[in-house]
Amino acid sequence: MSQLLEIRNLKLNYGFVTALKGVDLSVPEGQIVALLGANGAGKTTTLKVISGLLKPTEGQILYNGDDITGKPTHQIARRGIMQSPEGRHVLLGLTVEENLRAGSYALSRAQATKAKVNENFERVYQLFPRLKERAKQPSGTLSGGEQQMLAIGRALMGNPRLLLLDEPSLGLAPMLIRDIFSTLKTIREEGTTILIVEQNALATLKIADYAYVLELGKISMHGKAQDLLHDQRLIEAYLGG
Ligand code: ATP
Repeated sequence: MSQLLEIRNLKLNYGFVTALKGVDLSVPEGQIVALLGANGAGKTTTLKVISGLLKPTEGQILYNGDDITGKPTHQIARRGIMQSPEGRHVLLGLTVEENLRAGSYALSRAQATKAKVNENFERVYQLFPRLKERAKQPSGTLSGGEQQMLAIGRALMGNPRLLLLDEPSLGLAPMLIRDIFSTLKTIREEGTTILIVEQNALATLKIADYAYVLELGKISMHGKAQDLLHDQRLIEAYLGG
């Protein structure tokens, strides 16, 4: 299987705090891979290192075979890695449409034709019809779930080959989580690879192909998502017994 992303022995210190203690993980093309773990395990830190927001102390990140360790964020985005950050971070003063358009700035000049941008708008509106209905509305007036859809939609406007999602279920009602996670499966079926960071292990394992569990900066468990759903140790630690 070809690996789209390979992380080797990733270490990161914030001053005296060691957040990552040698993380190894692989994301095969076309799959949803989950990175699970409790608060403070280092999940967000891992995503930030991948997208170039943080430089690792040690270790390597290979994307499509190329070493992208320590490259600037805009270069990483242009290569096709887009992140939908935790807490959504949509631009509240802008409308839904303006927010989505901002996501297309990650496209290279060659890609950013009017036709391509329109095609991306169509794709996002098909995945999230709610956003189309609210296209002209200021993002600040959206519900939490709609803001989450917008954050994912904005990342999709950059045409990612690899989509990084940081806790898309955070603060959402179970029904909405099911909706958004089912859309993630569609996004995978359309050919976009996903690395998803989540505390909601159960919902995530149901849609993921493979999963890693991060504990205090180290991978403590990994396996096929279907197998982990039945793993006694994981059930006790993350699925409430
Ligand atoms: P959560 O689910 O709560 O977001 P997480 O698994 O994403 O947790 P990280 O945000 O990656 O965890 O944090 C990992 C560790 O690094 C934590 O102990 C955190 O306190 C620490 N940390 C994160 N950012 C900084 C920072 N800027 N300076 C110092 N320590 C930090």
